[in-house]
Amino acid sequence: MESTCTSSSDEEEKDQIQNQEHQTRARQRRPALRVKKAVLNPRRESEGDQPVSDRFNYELSSRDLSPVEQVREYFCEYKDEMVEDLERIYQEMSSKMVDLADVATKNLSSSAFVQGSRSIVHRTAVAAEKSAKTASEVPAKIITAVKGWKLHPFEKLPNWMRDNEFLTLGHRPELNSFTECFKSVFRIHTETGNIWTHFIGFIAFVVLTVLFYYKPLCEYCNADIDISEKLIFLYFFVSAILCLGLSTLFHTVTCHSEHVSKIFSKLDYVGIALLTVGSFVPWIYYGFYCQLTPKIVYLTIISLLGIGTIITTMMDRFNKPEFRQLRATLFVCLGLFGLFPTVHLILRSGWEMALVEGEVYKLLLMAGLYISGAVLYGLRIPERFLPGKFDLWFQSHQIFHVLVIAAALVHYHGMTNMAVHRLKMAGECDIIEEAQAIQIE
Ligand SMILES: [Zn+2]
Repeated sequence: MESTCTSSSDEEEKDQIQNQEHQTRARQRRPALRVKKAVLNPRRESEGDQPVSDRFNYELSSRDLSPVEQVREYFCEYKDEMVEDLERIYQEMSSKMVDLADVATKNLSSSAFVQGSRSIVHRTAVAAEKSAKTASEVPAKIITAVKGWKLHPFEKLPNWMRDNEFLTLGHRPELNSFTECFKSVFRIHTETGNIWTHFIGFIAFVVLTVLFYYKPLCEYCNADIDISEKLIFLYFFVSAILCLGLSTLFHTVTCHSEHVSKIFSKLDYVGIALLTVGSFVPWIYYGFYCQLTPKIVYLTIISLLGIGTIITTMMDRFNKPEFRQLRATLFVCLGLFGLFPTVHLILRSGWEMALVEGEVYKLLLMAGLYISGAVLYGLRIPERFLPGKFDLWFQSHQIFHVLVIAAALVHYHGMTNMAVHRLKMAGECDIIEEAQAIQIE
């Protein structure tokens, strides 16, 4: 008897300890639950003795959290405990029902009663398990339901999202969801223009590539020569499509999180470096069509410079807002390398001939468009002069995007003219070289 009493009191003591622990945990959780509920329903603020904002201060980090973030935080924090509680209830119910069944077996020895009890236990267990699983899915469902985010002013953005203080309103908050980021493409905010300018450019270049390889280069061009000579343009098309595609992706998912934003901003810069190098390849190929050595030298140098630029853009420091002007300067310098082969071409063929062979006017126009885009981007013009007036449309970054597409199209037009000029004179390299040798003598 003594041992039974001891064991029973032990059990009671254990139960008491468990209950106390459970209540303590519930008490610890309760203020947080009230806080989150009150935030979700601002009208309840007046119901408490103390202002909600005061009660919440201890919970908030260095920045204000949006309702979505608060709900997400709450469920992320307590999801496991909710499931744990339900599982514990299930365990307790199961063990009590098993005890009941055992007692029934001992006392009544009735197989029908035992079977019935076991069946009840089994059904209860299945129902409890189902409830626990459903409960674990509830946080995700609630998060999805309340995910209608609002636009944030610049000051409310976390530090890592603060890129351009002259855009004062209309920013997306940190969304932490790729689905939400992609859905935001169809809403109006500071990045909408950036996303769509390069997405339209991306589609345009895909169509242009298909048309370029589908149609003959010119009316008089031999189809056989055509395809092999056209392949060099792939460097340009692939780099343009990659640049515009990566840029569209970056501007779409940059609000996901700091980590994702960093990765895609690096890819965005890689795309710009690729487009610059890719633009040089067909131009050098046709500009120095009959001169193998300068062709190889210039293509090697621009490739090495492009690789150097990509390595630099991979550094985390390069991505910070204070390096905006350095970034713009680096890409302009990469583009300005084009001065060397252009001067070489003019010295070799003379100004008049260089205009035809190198499409120098188009080259200068392209450089002008790229450089003015980079200057506007670096100095953040026009929003610098009228902060808050270009939050959604006509901000420097959008103008820069449009100028990049315009420059790429001008360059494409110039290069096709160069190719047509060369293809009409195909097979005449020896004659040209001889004539140039005579000129030099
Ligand atoms: Zn951009």
